[in-house]
Amino acid sequence: MVRINPIYAEMETTIFEHMSGLARQLGAINLGQGFPDEQGPPELIEAAARALREKSNQYPPGAGLPELRDAICGFYARRQGLEFSREQVIVTSGATEAIAASVLALVDPGDEVILFQPAYDAYAPMVRRAGGVAVSVPLSPPHWRYPINKLEQAITARTKLLMFNDPLNPAGTVAGEAELAQIARLCVRHGLTAVCDEVWEDVRFDGLVHRSLLDFPGMSDRAVKIGSAGKIFGLTGWKVGWMCAAPEMAEALGRAHQFLTYATPPALQWAVAEGLAKPQAWFAEQRANWAASRRRLSRGLTEADFDVLPNAATWFLCVDLAASGIALTDREFSERAVREAGVASIPVSALFEGEAPAGVVRFCFAKGDAVLDEAAERLAAFRRALA
Ligand code: GLN
Repeated sequence: MVRINPIYAEMETTIFEHMSGLARQLGAINLGQGFPDEQGPPELIEAAARALREKSNQYPPGAGLPELRDAICGFYARRQGLEFSREQVIVTSGATEAIAASVLALVDPGDEVILFQPAYDAYAPMVRRAGGVAVSVPLSPPHWRYPINKLEQAITARTKLLMFNDPLNPAGTVAGEAELAQIARLCVRHGLTAVCDEVWEDVRFDGLVHRSLLDFPGMSDRAVKIGSAGKIFGLTGWKVGWMCAAPEMAEALGRAHQFLTYATPPALQWAVAEGLAKPQAWFAEQRANWAASRRRLSRGLTEADFDVLPNAATWFLCVDLAASGIALTDREFSERAVREAGVASIPVSALFEGEAPAGVVRFCFAKGDAVLDEAAERLAAFRRALA
């Protein structure tokens, strides 16, 4: 018998793949895994097609095309007032690779890594595979605020890293300025490095502007900022992401990246570089479209008597089942709704380790109006049948 590494031997298929697989198999509407149901911005697709025809299809530089690395620097300078130079940016095949590279480059065996829960389900297994110990600090619905005291209590002499996802998926919340300042102070005081997964930085609503944890005093040398073209442009299948850090750290991150994927398809990199140069108004319009979809699904679910939690960012709305008068766990709800209502969702407890809130289900609203209306109708009927 081949002995598989126990982390993988015992691992389940990720909830995102599980629910998308069920949706495909059953022909259900997929409001589970987060991706838009559109092709993506036509100009970017045209730019990628042009690049496939006219530019190189051979290995690009491992750290990314200089043009894309510069475009990322320009984007963050204009949008977030951050000053990165080209050497500080490493292009990756999606943010998931950037997370893996960051953890592999930064975690030594025995290091403790603090994760707020809920968390992207890639974090903890990657920490463990790197020999680290995942330490959870849970957040609670409906507001999912950061319990700064609990964070401080979780820090020990062995704590090396904090994984910090802001805006926070699946909660759809954003960290407040005061929370960020407190978290940054703790990182500085205890010598922690922060892996800042900011893939939702550009999917914020209601005029909220993004400020990276990396931008707080003392953080620029101790933080990695991870971004994602998949999220910024609604092109999740492209798997183009990046990580930005102080030069010395970026060099180490680049070494981790060189033996994961080595490089990322150059045509997609060219297209993302073009996209990042678009004017603010272009991004604002995209955001307004997502905000309209958020309103539409929120209205549909509310009219169907679902208790919808507040959302400030991401493509996701969460529903509190107990507050909606539904006596199912989130797993039961998601497994039944995909089969009986033909609507896939994500049970939020799948993004928790240990104790999770009893019943919160996540729905992706980055879909066309007709799809959202049909989903809300099906869920309303499903809910009535449960009562
Ligand atoms: N971030 C995506 C989501 O929340 C999942 C990412 C993935 O499945 N690789 O739906």
